[in-house]
Amino acid sequence: MKNKPLLTSSQTAHFRARFGNKKQFSQALMPVRGPYGFRELDYDFPNKLDPQAIINKIKEHGFNSFGLVVKDTDGATLANTPHSWNPSGRDLVAEFAELCEQNDIIFMISVTNMNDAYRGYTNPETVSIHFKNPKIFAKDHSAGDAATHPEGEMRVTLPEGVTFEEMKKRIPFLTKKYDGEIGASRDARGQGYIPLTSFHCPRSKHAEYMIKLIKELTQKYSVDGVLADYIRFHHGYTDLCGCERCRKAFSEEYPGKEFGKGREWIQFKKNTIVEYGQRFNDAIKSVDEEIVTGWFSLPGPKIYTNRFIAQDYRKLTKSMDTALPMTYPYLTGTIDDGKRWGLLGNAAHWYFQRNMKRRFRDYAPKDSDKGVFCITNSVECNSEEMLKQCIAYDYGLGIALFKYFGTSDAQWYACKLYSEILNKQEVGDPAPTKKEIRAILRQVYKKYPPKVTPRWWKKEQRAEKMGENNRG
Ligand SMILES: [Zn+2]
Repeated sequence: MKNKPLLTSSQTAHFRARFGNKKQFSQALMPVRGPYGFRELDYDFPNKLDPQAIINKIKEHGFNSFGLVVKDTDGATLANTPHSWNPSGRDLVAEFAELCEQNDIIFMISVTNMNDAYRGYTNPETVSIHFKNPKIFAKDHSAGDAATHPEGEMRVTLPEGVTFEEMKKRIPFLTKKYDGEIGASRDARGQGYIPLTSFHCPRSKHAEYMIKLIKELTQKYSVDGVLADYIRFHHGYTDLCGCERCRKAFSEEYPGKEFGKGREWIQFKKNTIVEYGQRFNDAIKSVDEEIVTGWFSLPGPKIYTNRFIAQDYRKLTKSMDTALPMTYPYLTGTIDDGKRWGLLGNAAHWYFQRNMKRRFRDYAPKDSDKGVFCITNSVECNSEEMLKQCIAYDYGLGIALFKYFGTSDAQWYACKLYSEILNKQEVGDPAPTKKEIRAILRQVYKKYPPKVTPRWWKKEQRAEKMGENNRG
């Protein structure tokens, strides 16, 4: 893409001071989501993991950074903290922290904040409240209902011999609703029983629970970064949150203005999230100034980031060390599922790049010292799509991939080759080029032929064959 933005030296200074001059190449693990993509919710899976083997594989494939999703949207915390819920019983943070330290790998943990299904079950009083009866879309609630809805991504399958009732004891937010079909669209790839998901009010006791948990995690474990996921409102509704706390705060801040309407309402919602982001950052920095903080962002048009999720890019950026845009265009569709899905993925990739360019000055204002570090998907896409994302969304700090389980052998091999280029780069350098990733793909395709042969590869193969025939 022409005139792609690049972070300035003052914007990369923080990372350089903290982690040295090498770009980051990170892979992430979501321990409760099973061995493939991220459509499963499985509390046995964390106990089957071999952290030593995982870190070995990470290292062998050239990654220098590792991200662990300690707390996912279900609410389980895979650590040993007295106040949280850990159905697996395993302390993966302790295990990975030690291994990363031994192997000189940067260790980041990600924590989901406002979205917490388990707390929706145990503490329904902190869940956000809808204040409108929907007219057209999402007619799944009434005014006054809590923002607890069927989960979009994760599904639960019953292992042999386990009844639904037994599973429900383990996952109390599970419903009897069953999703039977696996589709190609993003929200249709799961299969199994549908759990609930809850979005909590940032003004409720849930915020206290989270801040306490974050402090515990940073005090107890040696981590290089703590990343905030889901510091936002629900992406599907504009009428959150209408609880008494929010109504009171709004009327105090904007006396005489109508609740839930107009510019003031949007500003109020955005400020609510920023205030929480600031608390998240301060909690971590009060334990250790050196720990890097970041906030995950779903890049989108302003109407979406304002009216739905209420993320004020500029102010959130100010409240933490770095923005973490989740650039997953090829989750929309991959050519491996057919031409139509390939086109859809390409269109999303085109849109994401332009949107990132447009909103870059919000993520990283020129006069600021804030970085932009993107995370992109290595699952549910192929090697070429993955590498295209790796170069498109590296703005000078490197790239993070998502996720460890579900990345194919061909992609792991592509990662290894990509890391050899990235390791030669310095922080602040422009991303590797299209030419360089083509050279990688040539090697990958010889070892792992592509499921759908790209046109350029077909052409090259043909030319090669003709060359051989002419010689013979
Ligand atoms: Zn509220």
